Amino acid sequence: MKPAPFAYAKARSLDHALEALAAHEGARVLAGGQSLIATLNMRLDAPKLLVDINGVGGLDGIATRNGKVEIGALVRHAAALASPVVAQQAPLIAQALPHIGHPAIRNRGTVGGSIAFADPAAELPACLLALAGEVEIAGAGGNRRTVAADDFFTGLFETALGAGEILTAIRVPAAKAEMRYGFAELARRRGDYAMVGLAACARAEGPRLRDLRLVFFGVGSTPIRARNAEAALAADGIDAASAALAAELDPPDNVQAGGKAKKHLAGVLLRRIALELSEPRS
Ligand code: FAD
Repeated sequence: MKPAPFAYAKARSLDHALEALAAHEGARVLAGGQSLIATLNMRLDAPKLLVDINGVGGLDGIATRNGKVEIGALVRHAAALASPVVAQQAPLIAQALPHIGHPAIRNRGTVGGSIAFADPAAELPACLLALAGEVEIAGAGGNRRTVAADDFFTGLFETALGAGEILTAIRVPAAKAEMRYGFAELARRRGDYAMVGLAACARAEGPRLRDLRLVFFGVGSTPIRARNAEAALAADGIDAASAALAAELDPPDNVQAGGKAKKHLAGVLLRRIALELSEPRS
C-alpha cells in the first residue's frame, strides 16, 4: 500500500524541528524511518507533515559523563553496536543490539526512534528500563526535561513524550565491577521481533544479588518489570523466582506466540539469566 499524501520538512537544527512540530498539529518526527514508514504505508497513521531530524547536529554522539553513558537519539543501532563506549560501559545494550532486525535495519534505525516508538517487543526499551535509565526530551520554547525510564513507557506504543516534543538522548548508569547484566530473547527466526525477551541487571554483594531489575519484553503492552520474581530471586533463589513469575506474568496471545507459550518461555529465560547473573561468564 502507498501512504496518504504528506508534506516533508528537513530540519536544520533542533529548534527548527521543534518549531515545525509546534506549527503543525499531528506532525511526526522522521528518524531512521524503519518503523514510521511501514506505519504510513499500512495507513495506520496519516500525518500531514514529516519533520526529518536526520540533519540535526549534536544528536548522534556517544559519551560518558558523570558516571552515565549518554547515547544521542540519532545514533544508529549499527553505530552503537560498533562503539567501544557502549561495549565497555553499557554492556547490556551491547548484548541486545545484535538482536534488532537485520543489518539493513540497524544501519538506518536509531536508538531514539526505538525508544520513542516503544514497541513492547523491542529490545532497547527493555534495556533502558532494566538499567533504570532516563530519557532527555526537548520541547518548544527551550523546554528541556528528563524522564526516568520507570515513568516513560505508559502504554502500547505510548510514552511520556508530549505532542511536539523530541527525544534527544538516553542515559544509563555506566557499568561498574559489581554490576551483573543478562540478556536473552527467543524469536521465531533470527532478526524477527522477540516472542519473549528478558533484560536484567543486578548488583552482586558477595554471593547475593541486590537491586535486581528483571524486565520482560514481548509479554504485554510495555516492557514489564517482574517485581515479585525479582524479590523472590534475591531472597529465595531460582525456584521461588520461577513460581513468582508464573503468578505475576499474564502475556496476551499475539502473532509471535500464544500467551501460554510466552509464559513458559519467560520462565525458561528467567532460569537462564538467573544462572548467568549468579555465575557470570569470565
Ligand atoms: P522512525 O521509524 O523514524 O520513527 C518511529 C517513531 O518514533 C515515529 O512515530 C517517530 O515520529 C518517532 N520518533 C523517532 N525518533 C524520534 C525522536 N528522536 N523524538 C521523538 N519521536 C521520535 N526493532 C526492534 O527493536 N527489534 C527488532 O527485532 C526489529 N526488527 C525489525 C524488523 C524489520 C523488518 C523492520 C522494518 C524494523 C524492525 N525494527 C525492530 C524496528 C527498528 O528498530 C526501528 O529502527 C526502530 O523501531 C525505530 O527507529 P527509527 O529511527 O527507524 O524511527
